[in-house]
Amino acid sequence: MILGILKEIKAEENRVSMTPAGVETMKQNGHTVLVEKHAGIGSGFDDALYAAYGAEIVDTPKEIFGRADMLMHVKEPLPSEYDLIREGQIIFTYLHLAAAKDLTEMLIKKKSVNIAYETIQKADGSLPLLTPMSEVAGRMAIQQGAKYLETTQGGHGLLLGGVPGVDPGMVVIIGGGVVGTNAAKMACGLGAKVYLLDVSLDRLRYLSDVMPSNCFLLIFTPSILRDLISRADVVVGAVLRPGAKAPKLATRDMLKSMKKGSVLVDVAIDQGGCFETSKPTTHANPIYTVEGVVHYCVANMPGAVPKTSTVALTNATLPYVVEIANKGWKKAMKENPDIRYGANVVNGNVTYKGVADAFGLKY
Ligand code: NAD
Repeated sequence: MILGILKEIKAEENRVSMTPAGVETMKQNGHTVLVEKHAGIGSGFDDALYAAYGAEIVDTPKEIFGRADMLMHVKEPLPSEYDLIREGQIIFTYLHLAAAKDLTEMLIKKKSVNIAYETIQKADGSLPLLTPMSEVAGRMAIQQGAKYLETTQGGHGLLLGGVPGVDPGMVVIIGGGVVGTNAAKMACGLGAKVYLLDVSLDRLRYLSDVMPSNCFLLIFTPSILRDLISRADVVVGAVLRPGAKAPKLATRDMLKSMKKGSVLVDVAIDQGGCFETSKPTTHANPIYTVEGVVHYCVANMPGAVPKTSTVALTNATLPYVVEIANKGWKKAMKENPDIRYGANVVNGNVTYKGVADAFGLKY
């Protein structure tokens, strides 16, 4: 199969969909890999490195769309690429179609085979191609929280981990899934006093076995949050209600009780955010202040650390790419239910219920 690795063209996106090491694996499996010129620059991989691992460097996206049997991106195709997509071509990338009507209609019309990273699902219900980005965002949340606590950044001037003889800071994390657990690990590692809240007692029981003793695990209730938030230095929003907007758990009134110069990091902002006062920001302009509290609400946090994010993402995608390329998409979907869940629009038909339901389309 001929595989095409496209350069990302979405703003602030420096990841790439395959590393040079991934190219080597595809070559060992007998495939040809076309890599668009400069596709890996933002992630620290230059064209010479890709070529050394066996890629053919191609000048234009047009040539890649024209030659490849399977296209890989990180983000969804953008309008400048729509006309280039061919019937029967496999597109493997994050698509998030339920929130993108025009893109969905275009892919139906094109009759391409569109497999979305975010809906690939394992038998236990986990989403293996979303997990690595949640790991990155969770760990980054504490890095950002610690940074914006500094006075020069608008914070109230506290070192999160403290020093001997001085109290550490207090971190409250709402949601104990992948983001929340990774945030808690980082905050605990720094020596902060960490409160992790979740609605699931089973999840809290599991976390109590694996988290260090400076992580206090509490069931989420509005009154517990109200009490903790008034004492917190950093609050991380990390809830997810699958398929729904994030619930607004922290109200503006709760914010009024917070210390001036404390920091909110709303990782759940890509699902609308879990603080009443959250609105999406960008890496170029990541923070704003409400009621004296610094808000960090960047919707694509992993984009700021592309070297880590690219490798983390491709570690997770590569086994699926190999399987689809080796077997062809039909056999791969037949034999591996994870990949079947990834099918969103195939040969003009919507094949993922969430997407069909979003637009009242036949499924
Ligand atoms: P997850 O499913 O692993 O965890 C979500 C957790 O929230 C679960 O443990 C669930 O029990 C808990 N929860 C649900 N409702 C709750 C409530 N009312 N109170 C407390 N806990 C509650 O999800 P995740 O992978 O950790 O992702 C969390 C959020 O972060 C999602 O919205 C995801 O899209 C987002 N995210 C954002 C970025 C970014 O760059 N901003 C990157 C990755 C993930």
